Amino acid sequence: MQGNINVQTENIFPVIKKFLYSDHEIFLRELVSNAVDATQKLKTLSSMGKVEGDLGDLTIEVKIQKGKLIISDHGIGMTAEEIEKYITQIAFSGAEEFLEKYKDMGENLIGHFGLGFYSAFMVADKVEIETKSHKDAPAMHWVCDGSPTYEMKECKKKERGTDIILHVSDDCKEFLEEQRILQLLKKYCRFMPVAIRFGEESNWVDKLDKNGEPKKDKDGHIEREEVKQPRIINNTEPAWRKKPADLTDEDYKKFYHELYPMNFEDPLFQIHLNVDYPFNLTGVLFFPKIKKTIDPNRNKIQLYCNQVFVTDSVEGVVPDYLMLLHGVLDSPDIPLNVSRSYLQSDSNVKKISSHISKKVADKLESMFKNDREDFEKKWDDIKIFIEYGMLTDEEFAKRAQKFYLFKTTEGKYIPIDEYRDQVAPLQTDKDKNVIILYATDRDEQYSYIDKAKNRGYDVLLMDSVLNSHFVNLLEQKLEKTRFTRVDGDVVDKLIAKDGEVPEKMTQEQKDQLKPIIEGEINKEKFTVQLEALESDDQPMVITQSEFMRRYKEMSQTSGGGMGFYGELPENYNLVVNTNHPLIEQVLQESDEAKQKQLVHQLTDLALLSNGLLKGEALTNFIKRSVDIIK
Ligand code: ADP
Repeated sequence: MQGNINVQTENIFPVIKKFLYSDHEIFLRELVSNAVDATQKLKTLSSMGKVEGDLGDLTIEVKIQKGKLIISDHGIGMTAEEIEKYITQIAFSGAEEFLEKYKDMGENLIGHFGLGFYSAFMVADKVEIETKSHKDAPAMHWVCDGSPTYEMKECKKKERGTDIILHVSDDCKEFLEEQRILQLLKKYCRFMPVAIRFGEESNWVDKLDKNGEPKKDKDGHIEREEVKQPRIINNTEPAWRKKPADLTDEDYKKFYHELYPMNFEDPLFQIHLNVDYPFNLTGVLFFPKIKKTIDPNRNKIQLYCNQVFVTDSVEGVVPDYLMLLHGVLDSPDIPLNVSRSYLQSDSNVKKISSHISKKVADKLESMFKNDREDFEKKWDDIKIFIEYGMLTDEEFAKRAQKFYLFKTTEGKYIPIDEYRDQVAPLQTDKDKNVIILYATDRDEQYSYIDKAKNRGYDVLLMDSVLNSHFVNLLEQKLEKTRFTRVDGDVVDKLIAKDGEVPEKMTQEQKDQLKPIIEGEINKEKFTVQLEALESDDQPMVITQSEFMRRYKEMSQTSGGGMGFYGELPENYNLVVNTNHPLIEQVLQESDEAKQKQLVHQLTDLALLSNGLLKGEALTNFIKRSVDIIK
């Protein structure tokens, strides 16, 4: 029998070839998943009693044979009528509409119009189908060479099921290479639900003697032999399809390493997703240890549709911050063959994404509530992830505010509200703002931390790369709360209180002092600020305005938009304690050279304790100090 493929156009194949060219390796996924579908349909019929007897070996086989690539299954098969209906009458509402649409659809085309089978023509000049239905009907042979005509006749196939035979075209010879096919099967079919065989693999096993004991050679070594076994390329029951109650932590770890064989580190913990309303979604998301340098390209989240791999470009499908996670998402509601831009605008996908975000928050909250100690242990490794989430996802931020932990410079972990209440009595300023003090580097800011602590204040350690953005966010979220880095001002001024330290110098003396000091420093970089501090405080201290520093840092980590702040020169305050006896001495010194030396020595000491005295200036300071001691 001969016939025409029922598309109202002569040139469906050029269309398929052209538009799907970039992605033509997916033909294999399409054909193997058709084989899987056919096998599962058979199993369903059997369980309903509609197919009788033993179903036999249902393993799907992929073979390379003399210029042909063959995909065989033992599924339901097709009758002549079914081939007519499902293969030749290409299933879409109308060719007119199709032609109208294909222009912009490109890669969306295949799954959308049930063209899965026809993707075979992207790589083959000729495609044959040999199939025998589970129904009592003759086996059929169908062949088509890529023109809109085909031939169909009865054949002698005995076993139930379907063989799809591709005569691979000259420009696609790569699909006849064992390694290439193996790679594709591993990529797309690794977790398909029916066993798929591709060639053989060899295993070395102990040789056994008659009694079943290991055989030894004359030197007493156990003899081994090579045993060839069918190579099954997939795991038909991946962890995400199982019930969480049936899995141990070890099982999850094993699955993680199966997913990412190149990653040797264990994940911290995982979330098993299992949703059936209002959409279907299963999956396991792993929390990796996040390094300071985040590399989201290595172990990406993989998207599946009923265990068929769809993509690992999940940008826009899951919220940005979730891309730092690893693992698998599987949903029949995620359209299989669509481009990313289509995915992003799909309303199901959007729902899925916000649902996942909620589940992640649930999991973290329950960990926080149920095992606080363990949660604290993991905190340093997940903190960046949570900060990133809070900065980019409003809903998540609301939830996370409850379990976000501040870490103090003493290494204690405390939730935000609890911490605020705890420091409020001592750290509320005269305008009723609670001032939260933090350090970004425990060693570099040691002297400031020390002074603040002596004053009874507490200091947080906030050392993440996102810190300045995060501190800004918290100031927006928390009422009457400000953040100040410990070196943002001298300790007396960090938290402005009523009642100032009495001043020893007159305004006239101060006017006299200022230019003397200004004469000895780089005015571009330092602003002299005279303050009446306790007389046993330091004579001079270097501080940096919280506002300027934070904005400068933010412009460095956020790229565009804040460039202006990044352009600003590094600027510091040189705070001079006018109550200090040495400063009084500067003013009273009549020998100009000695006065200069004293000022120099004092500013250098301030710079030194801030790590700002370097190179030649440092050498000069040492020389001068030695002279003074002599
Ligand atoms: P889709 O799989 O999206 O329906 P396809 O073009 O891939 O579109 O396949 C069309 C139909 O052909 C399938 O729905 C199925 O009925 C039939 N078919 C394809 N491959 C097989 C197979 N290996 N065994 C039985 N039926 C098949």
